[in-house]
Amino acid sequence: MTNEFIEKAEKVIAATYKRFPIVLTQGEGCTLFDSEGGTYMDFVDGIAVCNLGHAHPGIAEAVANQARQLVHVSNLYYTTPQIVLAEWLVEHSFADRVFFCNSGAEANEAAIKLARKYFKDRGTPERFRIITMEGSFHGRTMATLSATGQAKIHKGFEPLVDGFDFVPFNDLEAVQKAVTGETCAVILEPIQGEGGVQYPGPGYLEDLRKLCDQQGLLLIFDEVQTGMGRTGKLFAYEHFAMTPDIMTLAKALANGLPMGAMLAREEVAASFTAGSHASTFGGTPLVAAAALTVVKALVEEGVLQNCERVGAYFKDRLLELKAKYAFIQEVRGQGLLLGLDLSLDGASVVKACMERGFLINCTQEHVLRFIPPLIIQEAQIDALIACLDSIFEEMTDEAS
Ligand SMILES: *Cc1c(COP(=O)(O)O)cnc(C)c1O
Repeated sequence: MTNEFIEKAEKVIAATYKRFPIVLTQGEGCTLFDSEGGTYMDFVDGIAVCNLGHAHPGIAEAVANQARQLVHVSNLYYTTPQIVLAEWLVEHSFADRVFFCNSGAEANEAAIKLARKYFKDRGTPERFRIITMEGSFHGRTMATLSATGQAKIHKGFEPLVDGFDFVPFNDLEAVQKAVTGETCAVILEPIQGEGGVQYPGPGYLEDLRKLCDQQGLLLIFDEVQTGMGRTGKLFAYEHFAMTPDIMTLAKALANGLPMGAMLAREEVAASFTAGSHASTFGGTPLVAAAALTVVKALVEEGVLQNCERVGAYFKDRLLELKAKYAFIQEVRGQGLLLGLDLSLDGASVVKACMERGFLINCTQEHVLRFIPPLIIQEAQIDALIACLDSIFEEMTDEAS
């Protein structure tokens, strides 16, 4: 059965993904089930998406209730779930206004458009260039892939959209040098996710904020991966003594339903007026109802606190592994966005974990990334650590 499905998929689905040979059919909390009765503990979480876990009863109920009431009308009209959600996001962040869309790439497109428009509105149309980071990831649309600092994502799609200048992450001087009279903004992930869980150095983001203020640049935080509680705070910028001007969200915003958002403070947001930007599905009642369940759970049901506590526990356990195995270079990250940087290829570890019932992910070929649902418990962390320990031990034995 399973192989039959996989064979079919290989014929009819665009071959853009290298997939693992399992067909997932059901989920519950942090557990996934495949078509052959196999079970997996999920440390991938749809790439940091289903933060309340799989098949969350509150999400199922919210979606079912909303689907019976109103799924979609155009943004030509007001709808209540969207209004209540925007109000919540504004109350809980630096921002004053929200634009809703359907994905991380779309949220970043909106941010790029807003930054350009802001400077056009000020009579400085020559300021359209955006400084972006090497190793970053901002999406796969033409503008967002052009903003992405990874050659493998550009390859084959040139010419890229003009207006992006790359500098190394964590290097303030490089940003300083890259600023010209044409620069309008800096975009970055406060913690790089796809880039291998790269954490900013002490003072870097605060100094970057100061530099942007001095130069009159907008600071855009791509919190598509780090936002919505992933790092133990609602938004990763809260770990630092600064705020951005624009922030993008998606991934976990609606626990697996497609939703993105671009948030900005009033003065900046004011450059989007009627007709500036739009999305047919953006902020539709169905996904907004799911997102309202997410934000309630994060704050009122202790999910955020759980992430902070279990994340710290998880990091300690990873540091114990690092003390034991010389090929572990570094443990990085915060909350439940954690990376284990190896001096060897991570793919075989991912495969061995899967064979033992654990789904984990590897970025940049050598960084094991752990991004489980934020409801995960210590016992489940212990199980993964034991699994990794035994795999690492076998690897050490083979090498010697
Ligand atoms: C996943 C991701 C994106 C792209 O989101 P999509 O919903 O796949 O378009 C953008 N930025 C960051 C930081 C991401 O992790």
